[in-house]
Amino acid sequence: MASRSGTAPAYNAAVDEFRELEYPMLKDSVYLDHAGSTLCSKSLMDAFAAEMTSVLYGNPHSASWPSQLSTTRIDDIRLRLLSFFKADPADYDLVFVANATAGVKLVVEAMKSLPQGYVYAYHELCHTSLVGAREDANYSICLDDGGVQSWLDGEDPLNATSQIPSAALFSFSAQSHMDGRRYPLSWAKHLKGKAVKTSPRLYTLLDAASFSATSQLDLASPDFAADFTVLSLYKIFGFPDLGALIVRRSAESVFDHRRYFGGGTVDMVVCGKEQWHARKTQFLHERLEDGTLPFHNIMAVDAALKAHLRLFGSMDRICAHTTYLAHELCNGLRSLRHRNGRPLCVMYSDAPGDAGPLGSGPVVSFNIANSADGWVSLAEFEKLAILKKMHVRTGGLCSPGGIASALGLEPWDMRRNLSAGFRCGSDSDIVAGKPTGVIRVSLGAMSTESDVRRFVDFVREFFVEDAIVEPRPKTRESTGVERLSNLRVKTITVFPIKSCGGFGVPQGTRWEVRPEGLSWDREWCLVHRGSGQALSQKRYPKMALLRPVLDFERGALRVEYQAQSQGSVLDYVEIPLSANPGFFNGTTRQTSSRVCGEGISAQTYISSEINDFFTDALGVPCVLARFPPGGRGLNSRTSKARMQKHQKAEKFRRLPGSSPDIPSPPDSGSEQQQHGKILLSNESPILLVHGSSVDALNEEIESRGGDAVPESTFRANIIIESLAEEPRQPAYSEDSWSGIRIGNQDFTFLGACRRCHMVCVDQATAERRQEPYTTLAKTRRFDGKVYFGSHMRHEPGARQGGASSQSPTLQVGESVSVYDGEFM
Ligand SMILES: *Cc1c(COP(=O)(O)O)cnc(C)c1O
Repeated sequence: MASRSGTAPAYNAAVDEFRELEYPMLKDSVYLDHAGSTLCSKSLMDAFAAEMTSVLYGNPHSASWPSQLSTTRIDDIRLRLLSFFKADPADYDLVFVANATAGVKLVVEAMKSLPQGYVYAYHELCHTSLVGAREDANYSICLDDGGVQSWLDGEDPLNATSQIPSAALFSFSAQSHMDGRRYPLSWAKHLKGKAVKTSPRLYTLLDAASFSATSQLDLASPDFAADFTVLSLYKIFGFPDLGALIVRRSAESVFDHRRYFGGGTVDMVVCGKEQWHARKTQFLHERLEDGTLPFHNIMAVDAALKAHLRLFGSMDRICAHTTYLAHELCNGLRSLRHRNGRPLCVMYSDAPGDAGPLGSGPVVSFNIANSADGWVSLAEFEKLAILKKMHVRTGGLCSPGGIASALGLEPWDMRRNLSAGFRCGSDSDIVAGKPTGVIRVSLGAMSTESDVRRFVDFVREFFVEDAIVEPRPKTRESTGVERLSNLRVKTITVFPIKSCGGFGVPQGTRWEVRPEGLSWDREWCLVHRGSGQALSQKRYPKMALLRPVLDFERGALRVEYQAQSQGSVLDYVEIPLSANPGFFNGTTRQTSSRVCGEGISAQTYISSEINDFFTDALGVPCVLARFPPGGRGLNSRTSKARMQKHQKAEKFRRLPGSSPDIPSPPDSGSEQQQHGKILLSNESPILLVHGSSVDALNEEIESRGGDAVPESTFRANIIIESLAEEPRQPAYSEDSWSGIRIGNQDFTFLGACRRCHMVCVDQATAERRQEPYTTLAKTRRFDGKVYFGSHMRHEPGARQGGASSQSPTLQVGESVSVYDGEFM
């Protein structure tokens, strides 16, 4: 069906021509996450708007003229859709549903109402929505290709139960949405042929949601034998958000046992002393479409069919075009090699030409390997992709069986992955040397050759490793002792509200250091009213414009909102600093929230003045929450930072005087001490940035034609700099320090700080830039992750006695000495 020569490039030129006009939202994005063609063309939306504003349509199910008009339109469109799939209305009925999943649920609901229930077999590449159908079955089994083949050879996998069910159901996908693989539609026909008299009647459920998005679904084909077919109309047309369940008339009796009835599906209902109802009998869809039909949506289908025809011609043309692009993409990705010759991409999809007689759909999934045979973390890939406006899908893709078989994950791997949790900033997407998901690129009717080229270029630019990385040579003899250096503290900054602006500690002010970090750092956060998630600048960059000021005279945290344009104070609120429970009574309540995926218990404020201020500033329904120091259990958190391989820290030398690294009883609290308690910061008590490293990075950025970034972009608590007259500490020397002393306080280094694209938010304007992440990704990536800055914690017991140990403080300008980190 897919001719790879001639037609496809010509067609591509046609798409290029109308794309700018029809899909203006693609202006500067490369959108390759079509689970089909999930974008709305301008023609379609204009035609729909014109119809809705010129014709008076009413809610169907009534006798008024506008209502009758709606009913007629819906009947017409139902037929038109059936013929779009080449289905003869004498053989098939089409039921409008919310999405493909809702179609599956209707089938399952009917099946489980059968007197003896049903048994269920599903192919391993099924979508999650079809896997779920097993929960209502008496018995279920997941089959791989071999399992289906044995069945075709006569070995029924479903006769394992003693009790005879009323029916058997087999589900499979016409095309996997995970890797584009296509499966023989003739399976349904051949399996039916195998059924023996004693076995229950076998029905088949075909998931055509992925297939029908870019190929002609042909129900008139003599091979087509599925009883139930589900699909998503938005994947074909972009709009409306609707699904369809197409039922073969000979299988309609399955629905006779359905118990529930909704408005519009019955001719008469009697309540009271006698309870009785008469279902509509003429058409199946009349009995299954409960309540008011989504009639505006259904009417949009007509506009969708017309716009689709005008822009793309036929589904066969779309198929040829997307197949051609998938071929280009596979070739492009396969050709990428690291400098040392190792291939970059591990492909899980076959190129369309290599996929056998059925071909394969324009869905390409893969993972990226580094030059040392490790994996590039999906989280890292995603950060760069988002930054470069490359929109693809990563992760498990609602394809549990497909992912497991592609990645060789065993059930225990998957359970372990689940219990290991997925936290932001953590590297848990590679567990035990295996990735836990894939990168999926799916092409749609409006994709172009230039999208494919840009995507392959993006992968090449960021993931091909040019140099053969040698471990860094040892430069110094093992010392591990304090070395006087020419550094001093340049700035101290606290961020009282997580992810909001910083408060610079004024010159001459001594600032208290606590086990959890600097005093008042990340003690508050903003929590989404609906989800309970702590808000982050990554998602809501405007948080940078919320500038807190700690006013100890007034005993208040004053938060100002800096309007983006004029840079003036728009508005402010004051929040009392007192953490006295008496004061809190009635002003806050204890609620559970989530910070970086971790469940915590925080005190949320009730005051609508406070909450409205933040909600209005950010345009997100949120509340302020406080997480004061000294909590236990869910009221406390611990540091997650650790030494990274590029810091050569297998075993880490501790500071003189600090406690030895012996395991402590789990409930003693000293284990927490080992890791360091934190409040609401992501990973560690204190983040330190070395000015020389910022300068080095800025030189790199400028040499690549970018603009230097201010130090504030790294949101460090402490920035240190070299004294002007002295030789500078080399950039990135902090990677090998084991700790530092500031004034007379000691700090242990906990590991480098992993970065995400949040460093691209300009802290002054809240605008997103490309730098410094783009350059960091090219110059500071180790093991597929990007690092800049160092996590550290205070060592309270390191220096005994005196005020400096009882009430440790820091101030701007204090000298810094370094504990050299040669590691044992
Ligand atoms: C998208 C998709 C589904 C789910 O469709 P919904 O419309 O979201 O319910 C099921 N199966 C496949 C193969 C899909 O691509």
